[in-house]
Amino acid sequence: MAVQTVATPSTPADTSSEGSTGSTGSTGTAPSAGTDAAVDLGPASGLTCRECGTLFPLGPIFACAECFGPLEVAYDLPEGDPEALRRTIESGPANIWRYAPLLPVPADVADKPNLNPGWTKLVQADNLARELGVEQGKLFVKDDSGNPTHSFKDRVVAQALEAARAFGFTTLSCSSTGNLAGAVGAAAARAGFRSCVFIPHDLEQGKVVMAAVYGGDLVGIEGTYDDVNRFCSELIGDPLGEGWGFVNVNLRPYYGEGSKTLAYEICEQLGWQLPDQLVVPIASGSQLTKIDKGLKELIKLGLVEDKPYKIFGAQATGCSPVAAAYKAGHDVVRPQKPDTIAKSLAIGNPADGPYVLDIARRTGGAVEDVDDAQIVDAIKLLARTEGIFAETAGGVTVGVTRKLIEAGLLDPSLTTVVLNTGDGLKTLDAVAPTSQATTTIRPSLDAFRAAGLAG
Ligand SMILES: *Cc1c(COP(=O)(O)O)cnc(C)c1O
Ligand SMILES: [Zn+2]
Repeated sequence: MAVQTVATPSTPADTSSEGSTGSTGSTGTAPSAGTDAAVDLGPASGLTCRECGTLFPLGPIFACAECFGPLEVAYDLPEGDPEALRRTIESGPANIWRYAPLLPVPADVADKPNLNPGWTKLVQADNLARELGVEQGKLFVKDDSGNPTHSFKDRVVAQALEAARAFGFTTLSCSSTGNLAGAVGAAAARAGFRSCVFIPHDLEQGKVVMAAVYGGDLVGIEGTYDDVNRFCSELIGDPLGEGWGFVNVNLRPYYGEGSKTLAYEICEQLGWQLPDQLVVPIASGSQLTKIDKGLKELIKLGLVEDKPYKIFGAQATGCSPVAAAYKAGHDVVRPQKPDTIAKSLAIGNPADGPYVLDIARRTGGAVEDVDDAQIVDAIKLLARTEGIFAETAGGVTVGVTRKLIEAGLLDPSLTTVVLNTGDGLKTLDAVAPTSQATTTIRPSLDAFRAAGLAG
């Protein structure tokens, strides 16, 4: 099958992101996997185009055949008494499957072998609040480093895995900035799939080892993430990729839905309340757009009160195409060549950039960025105030939160949730130079006394 060239109006020349709309690849109809009517993905009723609204049957496709816009999952969501739905959710398992009635998964999903991610801690961060000048009791960190492979990616992979099962794929794959490769490797191992994942060859050691240890094939590509993604788009359109489910490309509509569970959990953990403000990292922008989708669903279902909320996007200055567009007042995102320690967010041409801009503007949020030194400072600030060791992406959100408060854009008197999406153990290099033994002594009390550490 020849590789078709398609273009999405809203994301011209997009070849980037952990989850691209795949403009240089095919529209994603896998050669072998069918779209048969018996596909059971629970309340998912089809795929709908974000640009033109055309409806498609559930299948491993990701771009609209009419206008090449990105597809997203449409639902027949549960109707009726919100109290009954709330009780069903609350009596569900302590993982994302408590929200199975709102996700593109079969009702018996919890019985299938998967990593059962989610239900991570929402930490009331009073010490950090004090440092940032936020009112006590109003600042929370949603700590997704507690997921099985220590990043939020387990949430999205779990959805893609169900879609892969439904469509009969036998190999799980992805283009990754690091965390996704590990999440796919682990999920595939547990579910009995083959995995073959692609990463830029120069990632952090923690990410590489984490991706390799689960025993699947791990391919380092000599190039940037954008090159990796372009390669994967080509592979999907080629017989070489037959039977492969790329979680963030041809399974991307399903994958994206996993980020809704962050919105659900945050609201449930706040006692079924919307936060007033959220600070969310942006790589491809998928997570931010789906958090918005999840919040809107909760309002529609009557599970939370309908009131305004603001979503703020966070990027590293060394890869800040969305923040730059936001500040310039543009609707289109100009691609950048990433150069930042926040490698998990280093996507120069984010597929969902235009939608992120729309959400930030529509909700009254903003998109801001912090440089590498501020990222390191913020990692250490979160660690010393709350005992949470975030990866660089968490440094980005905490650093941006501080900057937004200083700029008067984020209201310190309102309930604010800051996302930490990954684990600091995977990005040790960022803080290693400034995080070493404070002193080294001989094993004697005299030496200890002389070091002045007593008392
Ligand atoms: C992938 C990733 C994100 C967000 O990715 P999106 O492509 O914007 O959904 C955020 N933080 C970490 C640590 C990640 O690995
Ligand atoms: Zn369309």
